Amino acid sequence: MTILVRCALPLAIALLLCLSALPGRTALSAQQAKPDPHAHEVPPPKTAPRMVTPGPAPGAPPSDAIVLFDGSDLSKWEADRGGSAQWTVADGAMQVRQKAGGIHTKQAFGSVQLHVEWATPPVVKGEGQGRGNSGVFLMRQYEIQVLDSFENVTYFHGQAAAVYKQHAPLVNASRKPGEWQTYDIIFHAPQFDEHGKNIRRARFTVFHNGVLVQDHVEVMGITTHEGPPYYEAHADKLPLGLQDHGDLVRYRNIWVREL
Ligand code: MG
Repeated sequence: MTILVRCALPLAIALLLCLSALPGRTALSAQQAKPDPHAHEVPPPKTAPRMVTPGPAPGAPPSDAIVLFDGSDLSKWEADRGGSAQWTVADGAMQVRQKAGGIHTKQAFGSVQLHVEWATPPVVKGEGQGRGNSGVFLMRQYEIQVLDSFENVTYFHGQAAAVYKQHAPLVNASRKPGEWQTYDIIFHAPQFDEHGKNIRRARFTVFHNGVLVQDHVEVMGITTHEGPPYYEAHADKLPLGLQDHGDLVRYRNIWVREL
């Protein structure tokens, strides 16, 4: 038995040395030692992103948008004071009708991507807040200011593309009076708990004529003209509003995508 062990042991060592010297064996060892480059990656989602056909031209509604105004009529809107919307529709645009009051959509929305085109009057009248004033209200609570801010100074968090009286735009990307301008707005609705306490503030990201002017800013509450902003519990979805501030502002090509 002892003789057998004495003979077998050197033989086994020699065999191991021979095997490790073989090129195939070396490659195999190296391969086994190489870490998996895909280990610990974020796994892909189980479902494919939904297909959406983009609009045929920049600013045109994509296939999953809800068109709120295509230039033809105000059937998707109603007056803030009740009844049908009384703004003027002409030449593919709607225009504020003085003393008709604001209008809002019949449909309610929460978090959205919103495209709006607007133009202040070509003939300049007034100054500051009295020049081409209107507004796009998300949930009828949170205003992105519409104003002729082309060479027209007012308080900075009240100029065009401001979250009214809360956040001035990052830059002034205004076009001249009378020219069509665009807002592309990403809005995340606020959340309230069962006691009505605000547990998540609303947020705005806004592009004015394609230029980033609000970068995921936190909304401090209702965009009031007087007093500090505050939150008051409301429904998860509410209509979108357009303001009548007495100036003949026009709107066209309004569409929304629910987020
Ligand atoms: Mg306004």
